[in-house]
Amino acid sequence: EVGPDLLTVRGLTVRYGGVTAVSGVDLEVREGEIVGLIGPNGAGKTTAIDAISGFATAEGAVRLGDTDLAVLKPHRRVAQGLGRTFQAIELYEDLSVRENVIVGLTARAAHEADQDPVEETLALLGLGSVADRPAGSLSQGQRQLVSIARAIIGRPKVLLLDEPAAGLDSTESLWLGERLRGIRDSGITILMVEHDMGLVLSLCDRIHVLNFGELIASGSPREIRANQQVSQAYLGTS
Ligand code: ATP
Repeated sequence: EVGPDLLTVRGLTVRYGGVTAVSGVDLEVREGEIVGLIGPNGAGKTTAIDAISGFATAEGAVRLGDTDLAVLKPHRRVAQGLGRTFQAIELYEDLSVRENVIVGLTARAAHEADQDPVEETLALLGLGSVADRPAGSLSQGQRQLVSIARAIIGRPKVLLLDEPAAGLDSTESLWLGERLRGIRDSGITILMVEHDMGLVLSLCDRIHVLNFGELIASGSPREIRANQQVSQAYLGTS
């Protein structure tokens, strides 16, 4: 069930020296959606996620519901309900899967904890059977799931994912898609940067496309697939 705009981004601009990595980007994510953010290499996708989550200095407006996030440091944005994962996953290799997930619990302090958030989160990601294994023993697909579990144990309103399918084979990618649907159905809205077009087209309700830092298209998977400007951007002829 898709609701009103939950995350609203207006005029987002990030400059690195002479490079404008993100240029005047407007996008919104509605409550209950899974939204994709795609584009060729170097298009500015990670920079946009960094700017929304407060890790990159940006101009423009970022709102979560009625809350202005743009003025807040990253940890304050987390406290307001904005969770994220990183492209380079960092786990405590010697700690168990369960302990790695518990690390994310500090973000939950503001919420009244229901039953058992740890076991609930492990189950949502399908990690129950490996919960006692050291994180260092996991496959890449499982590591992604642990990093996502850590990001959602604080029950964010919006979860930002940076290439969750990176390094996954097609079976793991399908499994990941199912877990992301489960996360959305549990009440967490998702904005994901992803290169795996099969996953993006099958999973996302809407897709935003960046090219050279600018938003060139927004629409349903069907609309994006049919968009000439988007295929040209991917062919490098734009
Ligand atoms: P990819 O799909 O390859 O991960 P991307 O779409 O996520 O790419 P970004 O990593 O956001 O793209 O990069 C956008 C532009 O900003 C690129 O030109 C990149 O070189 C530049 N850039 C990114 N981070 C920095 C930084 N910390 N300092 C300087 N330039 C940067």
